[in-house]
This record gives sequence, C-alpha cells and structure tokens, in this order.
Amino acid sequence: MSKKLQPLRGTKDLLPPEFAVHEFIIKTAKEIANLYGYEAMSTPIMEYTSVFDRTLGDTSDVINKEMYTFLSKGNDSISLRPEFTAGIMRSFISNGLYHELPLKLFTYGPIFRYSKPQQGRYRQFHQLNFEYIGAEGTYTDAEIIKLAQDILSKLEILQHTTLEINSLGCNESRSAYHKVLYEYFLSYKTSLSEDSIKRLDKNPMRILDSKDEGDKKISQGAPLISNYYTDSSKKYFDEVLKYLDLLNVKYVINPRLVRGLDYYCHTAFEYVPKSGSQSSILGGGRYDGLAKIMGGHDTKAIGFAFGIERLTLLKEYMLPKIRPTILMPITEDTLANSLVLTDKLRAENISVKLSVSSKVGKRIQKALEENAKYIIFIGEDEVNNNNFKIKDLDSKKELFVNFSELVSLLRL
Ligand code: AMP
Repeated sequence: MSKKLQPLRGTKDLLPPEFAVHEFIIKTAKEIANLYGYEAMSTPIMEYTSVFDRTLGDTSDVINKEMYTFLSKGNDSISLRPEFTAGIMRSFISNGLYHELPLKLFTYGPIFRYSKPQQGRYRQFHQLNFEYIGAEGTYTDAEIIKLAQDILSKLEILQHTTLEINSLGCNESRSAYHKVLYEYFLSYKTSLSEDSIKRLDKNPMRILDSKDEGDKKISQGAPLISNYYTDSSKKYFDEVLKYLDLLNVKYVINPRLVRGLDYYCHTAFEYVPKSGSQSSILGGGRYDGLAKIMGGHDTKAIGFAFGIERLTLLKEYMLPKIRPTILMPITEDTLANSLVLTDKLRAENISVKLSVSSKVGKRIQKALEENAKYIIFIGEDEVNNNNFKIKDLDSKKELFVNFSELVSLLRL
C-alpha cells in the first residue's frame, strides 16, 4: 500500500473500539473532576510559538527538538501544542480571568511532540489535563494529587502504579541548588552528553532529567535539592506530605524527581508503573512562576496531565457493546416504509439500524454476529396495518405488536 495512505509515523487512527475506550476514560475522569469542582474548557491546538518557547524554557527537549513548528502564511511562527499548561495560562491571562480565581479547569485533546516513536510514545497522543489556578495553600497540592489518585483508582490502575513525589523548593532553594549542581556537573563536563553540556550553563537541573545513559550515571552521584531547601520550603513540603497522609495517599519521595519544564516549583509528582517501563503515566506539579513569565500577574497554580495511550498500556478495557435493534425490510418495496419507521423510532429516542442489502438469511446471520437483541421484519402489510413482527434473538420468540407497543418494548 502507498506510504501516503498510512497515518504519519507516531500517529494512529482510533477505530471505534479504541475510540470508545478513550471516551470511557474521558467520561470517568470528568465524573471525578466534577466531584472536585473542575470545569471543562478547551484552547486551540495551535498557538504562537512564543507561548511555548518563552515558558517551557530553551533547555527543554520539548522546545529544542520536539515541537511541530511552522510559519503561517502571515509569516508568524506557529506551533502545535506540545503540552496544555502554557496554552491554558495564555488563555487565562488573555481573557483576564483574575477576578474568577480560584479556577479549577480541565481539558483534553491531542498533544504533538516530534519524539522517537516507541511503545507508549507517540507523536500525536491524547492528554487529560487539570489546572488549579489560584491554588493557594499546601492543602491544594494534596487535594489535586488526591484527584489524580481518584481517577487512576476509578480506572482500576492505581494498584499498578507508584506515586513519586519531590519538592523543587522555592526560588531561593533552587538558586542555591543550581550553584552546587553546576559545580558538580562541571567536574564531569567532558563525560556529559552534548545536550547536557548545553544545559549546564543555562539550567543544570535539566541534566537530572536527561535520558542519556552516561548522564544518568553521573546524575546518580549529584547533590540532592533537599539539602538546599529554605526553612519555608521544607515546611511547605512537610505540610503537603501531612495532608497526603490524612487523605490516605501513599507516596514514595524520589529526591531525584525534577520535572522537565522550567516553570515548576515546590511540589512535583509522577505516577509511574510498578513494573516494566519507567515512563510516567501521569505527571504534574506547582508552577507559581508561570503567569508572571508570560506577562501576567503573580498567580499560584498547580496542575497535572496524563496520557490516555500510556494509561491503556496498564489495563485492557473491555467495554460492553450496545446491542443493536435491526430493522429489516423483507422486500425492496418495503424499504421506503422501513426508512420512515426508523425515523419514527429515532424520534422516540430508540436506536435502530436499517439492514437492507443482501438476502434475508444473510442479514439475519449478520444481526446474530453483531449480537443484536431484536429484529423487526417489515413486509408489505406491517406499516399499513400497524402490526409489526419483532423477533427476540435471545428467547427466539416472535411477537406481533402495534407501534406504541413496539416503542415500549424497545425502551425496556
Ligand atoms: P509530560 O507533559 O511530559 O509530563 O507528560 C504527561 C503525560 O503525558 C505522561 O505521563 C504520559 O502519560 C503522557 N505522554 C507524554 N509524552 C507522551 C508521548 N510521546 N506519547 C504518549 N504519551 C505521552
């Protein structure tokens, strides 16, 4: 088959069974989000590139290598969103929503990253994303983590995951840490990967996030941020952990967890699979500095996102299929009447499929394969006489009913 008929590398079609799983996951997450007072919203898939490169930081892989960026006909640099948070924050600022704070927002849709495709890593994938803008107080960190946990629990995958948490401290803690980290990595400069040498001057914390095996080994011996927390940062983290304990959220402190993006502070967290790939299922953190970086007012905020494709690696969801009702004209002459009848039934909110081409026997066979519940046979007299023959495919019984009885039966 011609290459042009295949989906692009790292993208895929979501055929009905798989799409139904996506919808189920979204619906489940929505139900939990509602319990926490989150409202759904949506931002455009494309933004000016500056929305992302000014906020994600020019040492991040997402910015350097993974963005789908192009020039518009008006010569503007445009990017497909490589994550949700920057776009949501842009929308928050440009719509001037400060007076509505605190805002609990959730959104979902495709995300684009030009990374190397592999199992659970796509170039177009789908995230559900939660942002709590105006999140003041340490309890809000714990509350949003509990929301993430409730979603994973409702989706029956919590038991396959571990919550890893760390604190990145306040700005003061991080700048003290940057200095010692810089000195540490400088002494290994000749052994670091090319990317990490670039990160060294700009943001040595990024090296801790490097996927390069050599960098990873060097990072093992790096100093830990916890030794550089200010008193208030330490108190902040202790309080978050205390609230998590109160909410019965189990966690492991991972002192090496630093999320890849520049705008995080204090709490950073990830749910990682207990076995197999170490790629995270869900990641989030506090980003109090982002609104200001983008030209807005100082606004405290925390959020998280999870990828639907990653999540489905942990569990295969078997969703019950709706059993169709089949309306079957027996002869070609009865097609028009059958079409009108399907219309009447749908007006009564009854789902019905018209089965037309091929011989009746073949169509019955197809209905059985589809696990249909009923077949309504339409012959010459049925519609005129208001007397319909319906076969229950479970009991194998045939009934003759009028239209209102038919509606009542199919409503059951
Ligand atoms: P991140 O924005 O990198 O923190 O990612 C948040 C979540 O999105 C991850 O925990 C994964 O579930 C998912 N994710 C990130 N990158 C990919 C990808 N390339 N393909 C599929 N899922 C991804």
